[in-house]
Amino acid sequence: MRKQIIRQVDETGRIVLPKPFREMLGLEIKDEVILSLNGDAITVRKFSSSCAFCGEDHAVDYKGVLICADCAKQIGDLVK
Ligand SMILES: [Zn+2]
Repeated sequence: MRKQIIRQVDETGRIVLPKPFREMLGLEIKDEVILSLNGDAITVRKFSSSCAFCGEDHAVDYKGVLICADCAKQIGDLVK
């Protein structure tokens, strides 16, 4: 599968996410995505509020990784 597809930004700033990319990410109509600005690139990720480490809800984004308060504390304790 191609990993780069050129798309044109329309008059209102919209682009269409290519169907093969949406299918790879399991993105459905009306799903939410997170847009992140990384240098000169925009990253689009499927939105999830689940912690990447334990799966708990209510995680927050830290440098592109969703993490819950408990896991953040555990990591903090590891590096003390
Ligand atoms: Zn967690």
